[in-house]
Amino acid sequence: MTAKDKDWATETLHDDYAQSLKVTRTLYDSATELQRIKVLENPRFGRFMTLDGVVQTTEGDEFIYHEMMTHVPILAHGMARNVLIIGGGDGGIAREVLRHAAVEHVTMVEIDGGVVEFCKEHLPSLSAGAFDDPRLDLVIADGAEFVDTTDRRFDVIIIDSTDPIGPGEVLFTETFYGKAKRCLTEGGILVTQNGVPFLQGEELTNTMRAFRALFADWGCYLATIPTYAGGPMAMGWGTDGPGRDVTLAELSARFAEAGLAPRYYTPEVHKAAFALPGYVLALMPD
Ligand code: SAM
Repeated sequence: MTAKDKDWATETLHDDYAQSLKVTRTLYDSATELQRIKVLENPRFGRFMTLDGVVQTTEGDEFIYHEMMTHVPILAHGMARNVLIIGGGDGGIAREVLRHAAVEHVTMVEIDGGVVEFCKEHLPSLSAGAFDDPRLDLVIADGAEFVDTTDRRFDVIIIDSTDPIGPGEVLFTETFYGKAKRCLTEGGILVTQNGVPFLQGEELTNTMRAFRALFADWGCYLATIPTYAGGPMAMGWGTDGPGRDVTLAELSARFAEAGLAPRYYTPEVHKAAFALPGYVLALMPD
């Protein structure tokens, strides 16, 4: 964020394009060893968190991102029992994963314990008690090191990272994706936060090139999240299993069985999210 106008927070992610949120209150502004964290308030979006000047999540529209990052792979898989989250310090992904009663164990590897602590205090609606769920095991560590050293295997891995700058950069490398794949069970699914293709096309192309080399079924799906300005956001998808081919009827049955009451995700949206417009298809490697 810049201090251009004290009443507005302007994102600093791109050199030539930015969105601003009017700030009616600053609730927190401090730095951990790794990142500068702020919690601000906006009349439309509610409380929102920035890490190093980049909006990570807002109370108003976080449900779109968290539901689509979570329910798409878990319901596509159909039998996910063990889930790994890398990043995700605000707890929003953990909250959505734990809504699935069939999930027995969630491991969340977040590099910055400060993000977890301060989100619990200042953005409690994000985790909504997830950190107290006995099925959740929180590990404060670098996700890249974790996938390199763990001998555990997971049915679904969700990479809820920052953008590829700072500590999140390593989570966008081919080496990391390869090691994450090694941690999947047979038919397991990896999904990643992959930015807004209209503005961060190269990021998506690089991830897709790595996925093409690693997975039998690779690609991305889309969700429109107002906070991540510039068009729909891409979520990377990689698996050697049949998850993408689940029929709408099967998906609807799994959805009903799970008893979820999401605000964005529906089985129809799930299927449609994999339909890519031409400019996104053009970013896919040949
Ligand atoms: N939803 C946001 C977005 O789309 O930009 C990102 C969510 S934020 C919770 C991402 C989290 O990833 C941060 O808490 C950050 O500390 C964490 N993170 C960054 N690099 C990491 C790494 N190498 N290992 C584990 N967590 C990491």
